[in-house]
Amino acid sequence: MTVQDKVIVITGASSGIGRATAELLAEKGAKVVIGARREDSLKEITENINENGGASSYQVTDVVNKEDVENLVNHALNTYGKVDAIFNNAGVMPLSNLEKLKIDDWNKMIDVNIKGVLNGIAAALPVMQKQGHGHIINTGSTASHHVAPTAAVYAGTKYAVKAISEGLRQESGKDVKVTLISPGVTDTELGNDITDENIAGGLKEQRKSALSPRVIAESVVYALEQPDHVDVSEVLVRERGLG
Ligand code: NDP
Repeated sequence: MTVQDKVIVITGASSGIGRATAELLAEKGAKVVIGARREDSLKEITENINENGGASSYQVTDVVNKEDVENLVNHALNTYGKVDAIFNNAGVMPLSNLEKLKIDDWNKMIDVNIKGVLNGIAAALPVMQKQGHGHIINTGSTASHHVAPTAAVYAGTKYAVKAISEGLRQESGKDVKVTLISPGVTDTELGNDITDENIAGGLKEQRKSALSPRVIAESVVYALEQPDHVDVSEVLVRERGLG
C-alpha cells in the first residue's frame, strides 16, 4: 500500500505538523487538500507543492466553524472526486495555571482541539461511509496520556481526542479506519500564544531537543500505508529518554 493518488484532507496545515505532513504526503504522490485560517501560508504551501510536481489545493478553514470544515471536505470532493483520509490536526495550546482563570483560553482549547476534531469527523464520516472506505486520523499528544502542571485543560482536550478516536474506532466497523497520532514535544509554533513568561520560557527550553515535525509526518504516512486489514490505532512518538 502506498499513499500514491490518495486524497487527504489536513486541518491545521498552515504550519508545524500539518504543513510537514502535507509536504511529505505530496512528495509521495498523494493529493492534499489543506485548511487553516492563515491564507497566505496555505497559498504558499500549495504553490510550492504544485510547482514541485505535486497536487495540492487549499481552503481557508476555521475548524471551530462546522460549515467551514464541511466546505473543506466538499472542496476535496469537488477537486479530486473522493476523500480517502482526513487528518484532524488543528490545535492550540495556550498553557496556564488553572488559578489564573484564563477562561477564554480554556474555551479556545475546547473549541479548537475537541470541537474542531468532531467537526472534521462530522464532515468526513458520511462521505467515507458512502464511499465504503476512509481513514480518520486525529492528533492527540503525549498529553493524551499524562497531565502536567499548566496543561490541565490542554491535556483534558487531548484525553478527549483519544476517547473520541477510540469510540469512533469501535463504532466505525470495516469501512473506516481510525488512528490517533500522539506526538511528544515537536518543534512547531504551538504555544506561541502562551502569555506567562515562565511557562513560555520552559517550553522554549523543551523545544531545544524537540522532534522535527517531519518525524510526526512519517508516522501519519506509516498509518496510511498499511494494508486494508491493518488498523494502526495509535502512534505515540516522543523524544528518547523523556518520562
Ligand atoms: P502549530 O501551531 O505549528 O500548528 C497548529 C495549526 O493549527 C496551525 O496550522 C494553525 O493554523 C491551526 N489552527 C489553530 N487554530 C485553528 C482553527 N481555529 N481553525 C483551523 N486551524 C487552526 O503547532 P503543531 O503543528 O505543533 O500543532 C498541530 C497539532 O499537534 C495540534 O493538535 C497540537 O496540539 C498537536 N501536538 C503538538 C505537539 C508539539 O509539541 N508541537 C505535541 C503534541 C501534540 P492557523 O493559525 O493558520 O489557523
